[in-house]
Amino acid sequence: MQGPVVIIGAGQAGVQIADSLRQEGYEGQIFLVGEETYGPYQRPPLSKDYLAGVVTQQQLMLRTPDMLARKNIELITGVAVVSIDPAGRRVHLADGRVLAYEGLAFATGCRARPLPTSATVAEGVMTLRGIDDTRRISESLEKATNVVVIGGGFIGLEVAGTARGFGKKVTVLEGADRLMARAVSPVVSEYFLKAHRERGVDIVLGTKVTGLKGERGHVTGVETLGGKTYPADVVIVGIGIIPNTELAQSIGAHCEGGIVVDDCARTSLPGVMAAGDCTVRRTASGMLRLESVQNAVEQGKSAAAALMGKERPFVACPWFWSDQFDLKLQMAGLSAGYDQVVMRGSTEQNAFTAFYFRDGKLLGSDSLNHPREHMATRRMLDKKVGPTPEQAADPAFNFQTLLK
Ligand SMILES: Cc1cc2nc3c(=O)[nH]c(=O)nc-3n(C[C@H](O)[C@H](O)[C@H](O)COP(=O)(O)OP(=O)(O)OC[C@H]3O[C@@H](n4cnc5c(N)ncnc54)[C@H](O)[C@@H]3O)c2cc1C
Repeated sequence: MQGPVVIIGAGQAGVQIADSLRQEGYEGQIFLVGEETYGPYQRPPLSKDYLAGVVTQQQLMLRTPDMLARKNIELITGVAVVSIDPAGRRVHLADGRVLAYEGLAFATGCRARPLPTSATVAEGVMTLRGIDDTRRISESLEKATNVVVIGGGFIGLEVAGTARGFGKKVTVLEGADRLMARAVSPVVSEYFLKAHRERGVDIVLGTKVTGLKGERGHVTGVETLGGKTYPADVVIVGIGIIPNTELAQSIGAHCEGGIVVDDCARTSLPGVMAAGDCTVRRTASGMLRLESVQNAVEQGKSAAAALMGKERPFVACPWFWSDQFDLKLQMAGLSAGYDQVVMRGSTEQNAFTAFYFRDGKLLGSDSLNHPREHMATRRMLDKKVGPTPEQAADPAFNFQTLLK
């Protein structure tokens, strides 16, 4: 390929595709188009250290404009791609510009799912996806007394922890009967429930938000089924995401809860790749959605290789992390479908790993302040080796013996 490549979305996956194209030896034009006014930046600190004021906006940036310019990557920010003409191989930007392409990649990420009831009371009700959202939340928190977080998933709990660190009265309302239920096992949910409550966060499980109360357009409370109202000056909604698939769909790419890609980040359309949060990966055991930095980076590398006509499958062990208060949770592998949980370390000492097995085979682990066990799981799963449940439970057993 020699003609221009257009990458739609200048986030973690988009910038990786651009960088990897250069590493693959591609010398043609690269356009990296993002609708946000910022260049590529990291999102994980948005609910953690950036919200807490510990890191600056500058420190969020993945690449400076200079770094991109040195690689001859043309960054266009503050402008959305509004339509694509696949027959003419052109993308149309919101400001009227038209870019011709030979290679096309979607890295459009996703958007926060809004609360259906929020339309009635706008002020003070926020979701968190970008820098501007964190800024708005941060400003509102300064004046707030009562903070209600709707959703006890990773983002909701991270924001709850940070807001509690500011001394706010924080309530988390979760619909399921345990925290982070989609991602971790009951033992880990239980640990985090206790940890949040011990640090003063009020957590309500198995509840359903039915509406918002407000005065003069500003939220004053969150109503739940059963008639209880939780007072709120600020409401942060963390109830999941919606992948940005509309553009890909408009040109006929197969989408099913994300742009469907194979292990090499190829969509159903020849020569069109997709990477990151906007994708869902077709695997032998069904469609796999991963919303993580690792996935964006690895699929970005695969997409660049695929644009160059090469196969670079992303099949490494998935991993993810979440920081809540001083607690570092690290997840490795895919534990869905486990039939046995084996613990190493202890919840009392705030350092443990829950290893998940099916039919005696290691599927993954969740580690709390246990980085060695987390890394060992990743390496074992990548090497397709694993301990027995007895070995995993035995703190004297060294996983390195399996990794030699
Ligand atoms: C608050 C928060 C905390 C997180 N914490 C963690 C964590 O601890 N660990 C972890 O692994 N992951 C975490 N994540 C997830 C991680 O940040 C994402 O998986 C990663 O950013 C995905 O990268 P992406 O490039 O696919 O999407 P994004 O980074 O979202 O980038 C997509 C970009 O495309 C742009 N775009 C969309 N449509 C268009 C268009 N039509 N034209 C132009 N531009 C467009 C968007 O504006 C956006 O800038 C967190 C995410 C959030 C929001």
